Amino acid sequence: MKIDPEEALGIDTLLQHLGEDTRHEGAIAPAIFQTANFLFDSIDAWQSTTANPSGPPYVYSRVANPTIEMAQRKVAVLEGAEACKLTGSGMGAISAVILGHTAQGAHVVTVDTCYSPLRILLEEYLPRFGVSHSYVSGLCADEVIDAFRPETTVVYLESPSTMVFRLQDIRRIAKAAREKGIVCAVDNTCGTPLFQQPLAIGAEYALHSGSKYFGGHSDLTAGAICGPAKALDKILKYEINLLGSIIAPFPAWLLARGLRTLPLRLRRIEATANEVAGWLSGRAEVDVVHHASLPSYPQRELFLSQMTGSSGLFSFEPRVQDEPKIKAFCEALRLFKIGVSWGGHESLVVMAEVQPLGYAQKRWVVRLSIGLEDAQDLIADLAQAMEVSGL
Ligand SMILES: *Cc1c(COP(=O)(O)O)cnc(C)c1O
Repeated sequence: MKIDPEEALGIDTLLQHLGEDTRHEGAIAPAIFQTANFLFDSIDAWQSTTANPSGPPYVYSRVANPTIEMAQRKVAVLEGAEACKLTGSGMGAISAVILGHTAQGAHVVTVDTCYSPLRILLEEYLPRFGVSHSYVSGLCADEVIDAFRPETTVVYLESPSTMVFRLQDIRRIAKAAREKGIVCAVDNTCGTPLFQQPLAIGAEYALHSGSKYFGGHSDLTAGAICGPAKALDKILKYEINLLGSIIAPFPAWLLARGLRTLPLRLRRIEATANEVAGWLSGRAEVDVVHHASLPSYPQRELFLSQMTGSSGLFSFEPRVQDEPKIKAFCEALRLFKIGVSWGGHESLVVMAEVQPLGYAQKRWVVRLSIGLEDAQDLIADLAQAMEVSGL
């Protein structure tokens, strides 16, 4: 039976069945089309496919593949998007959108706390092509809108942003951008489509690193671009096809499998993260906890108007800003492992010295990614590491 995304089914139901309309030999799991190319019965049949590169019929897996399409349909419905294209990593998705909407002389506005490889793209790579950028704190919509120039083509938001978890007013910024013909793209990796729907409040694109919550098991890298079908066909034709950034069939299959439990995992991770953040905010060793669901969060009103929940990634600033002590704290943790990336089944910790716009000085922050462990075990782990390290 064919499942239509337009059917009034719940998101959990759609994530199980959507896109899996073709059963092979009765297999309950969808097939992995681990193939580079596809065959045709005639030259005519092959030549007529060029009109629709997304398939079916499929031609070549650098452009489209049925396993990838199955996963794309699930991600599109999650984001409430007309279409989705999956890439080999989140950076593949970000670079495709930015390159797709810039040309010689263009200008990009983004938040200074954006994902650091994006900063490298803007600071070290795009200037080669005469593309400039401006950073804003994003704390106030007018500050972002005031940074728009006549040559601005993209405003790139990351809300919440990754290290100090600031929000941007997507609704207001996207509206102002649209009026000026500027494309508004939102990195929704940390927000998650369950708790925030950028497209529904005016953004052109919602982007994801599928390596985080979508996969959910720290065993794949993937990226997703969600947005209008026509714009995505253009990105597929140029940035994805020419730069070769499409996802491979197997990680696409793993991603689709991860999506089956995304809502379940996120609800559990949200509850645990709220408990851990609440506990941390009551500790004398901790100055600030950057977690949107706390009553003390400075952008609480925007959080409540824009998001329906918060995920498991947040940070805190230790009161003692002493690098060796903070390092000792991270290394004394037993359940939280030291590692980059986040959004998997396991809890992770990293530390970084940051100075976002508006900070008078640099500050050390400890970033936690909450996994699927028991909340009381994670809290006990943080408590013992504070004691051992003398944080
Ligand atoms: C990890 C991450 C990315 C990049 O994704 P990759 O899959 O690692 O390329 C982009 N944005 C945010 C917020 C991330 O955390």
